[in-house]
Amino acid sequence: MSMLSRRQFVQGGSVVAAMLLAGCGSSSSGADASSAPADGEYKLVNEGKLTCISNLFFPPFESMNEASGEPEGFDIDVSKELAKHMGLEINWLPSQDFDTLVPTIKQGGKADIAIAGMTITDARKAEVDMSEPYVDSNQSIVVKSGSTETAETLDDASKTIAVQGGTTGADWADENLPNATKKRLSTIIDAMSGCQSGLYDAVVCDLPVSSYQIKESYTDLQIIEEIPTGEQYGIAISKDNPGLTAAVNAALAEMEEDGTMAAIEMEWFGSEI
Ligand code: GLN
Repeated sequence: MSMLSRRQFVQGGSVVAAMLLAGCGSSSSGADASSAPADGEYKLVNEGKLTCISNLFFPPFESMNEASGEPEGFDIDVSKELAKHMGLEINWLPSQDFDTLVPTIKQGGKADIAIAGMTITDARKAEVDMSEPYVDSNQSIVVKSGSTETAETLDDASKTIAVQGGTTGADWADENLPNATKKRLSTIIDAMSGCQSGLYDAVVCDLPVSSYQIKESYTDLQIIEEIPTGEQYGIAISKDNPGLTAAVNAALAEMEEDGTMAAIEMEWFGSEI
C-alpha cells in the first residue's frame, strides 16, 4: 500500500494535478535510489521514509517531549500528516542549530526536508527550494512584565537584545535596533529564559512562538510590540529534488482541502491561524 502511495506525485509542479502512477516501473526499489529521478519522481535519503530535520526548541512548532523522548508540535504533526499523505513513514533526526538546517538540506544526503517554522526568504530560496507557505507569522519584541522599555529605548548600546542566530528575528533586530547590543543564541528558549532572569533586556522572535511561550511558560514576560513583517513559513527541500517539492506541495494542498491543517491549527493554537 505504501508503495502505491509513494508513487503519488505532481506533474509539472501543479499542486492539484497529483497523479497516481501505481505500478509504473520499478524505480522505487533501493537499487535505483542513487540514479537521477525521472520527471515528477523524487529521491529519499531513506527508502520509504520522509526524513526530517529541525531545531527542536521552538514551541509550539517543535520541541522534545521530555516524557516520551519524541519530538512534538505543530510542525511535527504537519510532518506526520505529510508523510501519511505521501504514503511514507516519518523519520525524525536529532535537533540541530537552526542556522545549519538550510546548509544541511543544500548539501543533501542526510535529510529530505527541514520543517522548522522557517520563513520563506529570497536568501534561503537561493540555496534551497521552499514549499508553498503553510503558516503566516510576524515578529514580536518581548520584555519583562512591568518593564517600561519601548522599541525606541531599546535601540541603545547599553541594551542587550537576545535573538536566535540566523533567524528573521535576528535580521529584524539588526536592521531596526542597529544601536542595541545583540546576543545571538542557539535557541529561543535560551533567549526567553535569559530575558526572564534579567540577563537580556528584550527578545525579538516570531510572534506565534512568543505568544505561546508567554502563555505556557514565561508568564513574567510580555510582548511590547507586534511587528507585521508578513512572514510565511515553508518547508526546505534540496533544489536537486524538485519532484519532492512538488509532492510536498501536493500533500500540503490536500491537507488544506481535507481539513487536516485546520485540525492541527486547532490542536496547537486553539483556533485556525
Ligand atoms: N521564522 C524564523 C526564521 O525563519 C525563526 C525560525 C526558528 O527559529 N525556528 O528565521
